[in-house]
Amino acid sequence: MAYMTQKDLANTEVDCVRARQIADGVHSVQDAIAQAESHYGRKAESVTLLAATKTRDVGEIMAALKAGVRVIGENRPQEIVAKAEILRAEAAREGLSVGVNGEIPLYLIGQLQSNKINKVLPLANGIQSVDGIELAQKISARAQNLGLCVDVMLEVNVSGEATKSGCAPERAIDEAFAISSLPALNLHGFMTLGARVDDEKIVRSGFAKLREIRDCVSEQLAQDHDGNSAKLELSMGMSGDFAWAIAEGSTMVRIGSAIFGPRAFV
Ligand SMILES: *Cc1c(COP(=O)(O)O)cnc(C)c1O
Repeated sequence: MAYMTQKDLANTEVDCVRARQIADGVHSVQDAIAQAESHYGRKAESVTLLAATKTRDVGEIMAALKAGVRVIGENRPQEIVAKAEILRAEAAREGLSVGVNGEIPLYLIGQLQSNKINKVLPLANGIQSVDGIELAQKISARAQNLGLCVDVMLEVNVSGEATKSGCAPERAIDEAFAISSLPALNLHGFMTLGARVDDEKIVRSGFAKLREIRDCVSEQLAQDHDGNSAKLELSMGMSGDFAWAIAEGSTMVRIGSAIFGPRAFV
């Protein structure tokens, strides 16, 4: 990760111009979410804003928190390791609690290799990028060893694009049931990346597919648990397509560049 040597992710200082830019980004995204909720007949405040903070340093993330962000998503285990403790300390100075046992959850939203699981588990509230039972079993075993219970989402590749991770939609329901039966894991919902095209119909049909998978699993789990199972989240929608995701039932949008500006590193 070249940028990790070029940029000090633990930096806590941002100048007031940059802090203002980020605050403006947060507020305009919050407004756009509210507008989409109203336009598509969704309940007000039914969609949570997760700030996708890859390549951003602690100071930039703090600016987003001060502007009202209440959920954070990181892509890379190494970035969580580099930032989590310093971010927690900085947030505490503002009366905010971030990370495990905090009011502001920190999720891993990018790929997790099994040799990084032990590093991530004590620092993250959950993992949105679990692509199937194999990885889930490893997380569950290690969480048990650490005495933790971890929220996980099943990542589904709704568009079928070869560059995307996630399990095939045809397998998603079986994988979700298998995951929900593992000890030390809580099936928290489903996550996807929308198709990389401008065609509203195509993008929305992928999001709709994930909603149908979620509804089917929710219904079944509710029957198994006398109707007491928690509501399953739908983490879908990024800077370029979050309004369409909200139209299709998203409960959590993951926004990076629309808050922080373009990324200088990939
Ligand atoms: C980077 C990233 C996002 C946010 O992307 P933007 O287009 O910058 O909003 C959301 N989800 C995942 C998994 C990401 O890696």
